[in-house]
Amino acid sequence: MRRKLAAGNWKMNGDAALLAELGTLAEHQNANGPQIIICPPAPLLSRAHEITKDSPVDIGGQDCHAATSGAHTGDVAASMIADTGATSVIVGHSERRGDHGETNAEIRAKAQAAWAANLTAIICIGESEAERTGPDTLDVIAAQLDASVPDGATGENTVIAYEPIWAIGTGRVPTLDQIIETHDMIRTKLTDRFGKTGNAFRILYGGSVKPTNAAEIFTAENVDGALVGGASLKAADFQPIIDALDAS
Ligand code: PEP
Repeated sequence: MRRKLAAGNWKMNGDAALLAELGTLAEHQNANGPQIIICPPAPLLSRAHEITKDSPVDIGGQDCHAATSGAHTGDVAASMIADTGATSVIVGHSERRGDHGETNAEIRAKAQAAWAANLTAIICIGESEAERTGPDTLDVIAAQLDASVPDGATGENTVIAYEPIWAIGTGRVPTLDQIIETHDMIRTKLTDRFGKTGNAFRILYGGSVKPTNAAEIFTAENVDGALVGGASLKAADFQPIIDALDAS
């Protein structure tokens, strides 16, 4: 039985007002519902943890460096994220892959760094619009999955987030059939590679999840939750998504 998970990626947004939203969100959760992880920008991690530490809401980072320390100005090590009280970190988000040229090999190394710091790695994969309309969509996603997930991944130390790049922040989402087909393929690839353990990985869908489309997306058997950007910034938007997941 996989615990459902709603993860919120604040991206480069966040201030005291948004932390107040987090307090509202934390107050309304019950420990038996889906797991909830909020990923604020690195400077807000400690304050976010202070606000949520007595609630069922967990805190995560948005990225980490693969190294444990050193001359990497502006970067953050996984152990530093863990030190704030966070319990997970997103790696390989398409905005990191695009803005910073991150490769699958780097993302693998970041996931291993996350594990070494006792963080769960939320590894993102997903196709571009050209790849979605091309003939090899599932092969492209499968290759990215293989190359981004290190050996040693388990359902405890790793979450997979399938996020079509063309759906992020655009208001466009794949059809339910496309989501089902892609998540089923990811599940099969995970069980082919990791055996029975492959059934324990949570697979999140991400890309323009809103209160209006969440319930339909969560009907898919291998959708174990969502990674949510824009709609995680307001408790009033994120809560109905959490409720739809809880009811699914
Ligand atoms: C994301 O940033 O991971 C994301 C899915 O964003 P949005 O929900 O805004 O499309």
